[in-house]
Amino acid sequence: MRAVVTGGAGFLGSHLSDLLIEKGWDVLALDNLLTGNAENVAHLAGNPRFEFIRHDVTKSIAVDGAVDAVLHLASPASPVDYHQFPIETLEVGSLGTRNMLELAQAKGARFLMASTSECYGDPEVSPQPETYWGHVNPIGPRSVYDEAKRFSEALTMAYHRTRGVNTRIVRIFNTYGPRMRLNDGRVLPNFVYQALTGQPLTVYGDGKQTRSFCYVSDLIDGIYRLLESDHHEPVNVGNPREMTILEFAEQVLKYTGSKSGIRFEPLPVDDPKRRCPDITKARQLLGWEPRVTLEEGLPRTVEFFRRVVQVQKA
Ligand code: NAD
Ligand code: UDP
Repeated sequence: MRAVVTGGAGFLGSHLSDLLIEKGWDVLALDNLLTGNAENVAHLAGNPRFEFIRHDVTKSIAVDGAVDAVLHLASPASPVDYHQFPIETLEVGSLGTRNMLELAQAKGARFLMASTSECYGDPEVSPQPETYWGHVNPIGPRSVYDEAKRFSEALTMAYHRTRGVNTRIVRIFNTYGPRMRLNDGRVLPNFVYQALTGQPLTVYGDGKQTRSFCYVSDLIDGIYRLLESDHHEPVNVGNPREMTILEFAEQVLKYTGSKSGIRFEPLPVDDPKRRCPDITKARQLLGWEPRVTLEEGLPRTVEFFRRVVQVQKA
């Protein structure tokens, strides 16, 4: 079996490539390194099962040989990244998704699209089930990401309905773990870096907004189960343990042993107030639920960032 993984040098794409190889797949990773890092797949260099091509998936590509699955993860994912690359984000979610659906169709391959909880926008329903249509500002600064992903979902369903492509859609909720970029601007790298370097943790707004954090190995397990399933409509994959950002900051201080304080900064425009996945569908359909608690996952991630900070200092 052979898979094409777009965004294969990113945080999630590199972990997914590892799991696929472990399960006996060959992997062709496509990535233009816009927000990814070749270091994330450096350990796979020389592995005959793994191939990396630096390629922008908004441009078409001829892939030689058989392909059994296309897993489309390419896209800036951090709010800081997609604010920096708004047009690129819209293009990878439109042109990029189209090119990868065309590739899947031409090869008769399964197609899996990495969607997001941002499809629900600033939700008025919590926890969010897949049946909720969302509350998205179509022109706000986050819209470049939210609408790109919503368009991607629509395109994926259209290729499934009218062209018979065997598609899957995973709606990923906030995920964390080793290989996140130290400066990607997401809350976990920011807080851990600040805690490890003795700077105050920057809590945006009053810190009462909530998120639910899923450890990366759980998320990747969920994606793999969905790939192996036969379900075409979106499935939430995330950890339903919801907490405020202020509580999360306290956890980071605890697991880093840091004496850093907290500094309040303005809340970004349209920042969702609540986010928590309803995972009933993933439980029933995939037999999936998260296994790694924050108490286990956070120390592992802190250790990873400790090494990154040490290398940076050296
Ligand atoms: P990431 O930024 O680490 O990885 C994204 C990868 O896509 C990067 O390696 C980047 O270089 C690559 N990329 C971007 N544009 C490209 C293009 N045009 N052509 C080729 N490669 C391109 O982010 P991540 O956290 O690993 O996210 C992976 C996917 O999962 C994204 O689609 C994201 O929207 C989705 N997602 C992630 C989370 C999360 O919490 N990590 C949550 C919801 C959804
Ligand atoms: N956040 C914060 N301080 C930071 C970075 C983020 O308080 O230094 C907040 C942000 O406003 C949001 C939450 O943490 O409410 C999660 O932000 P992130 O950028 O990780 O992802 P999002 O869930 O917003 O896509």
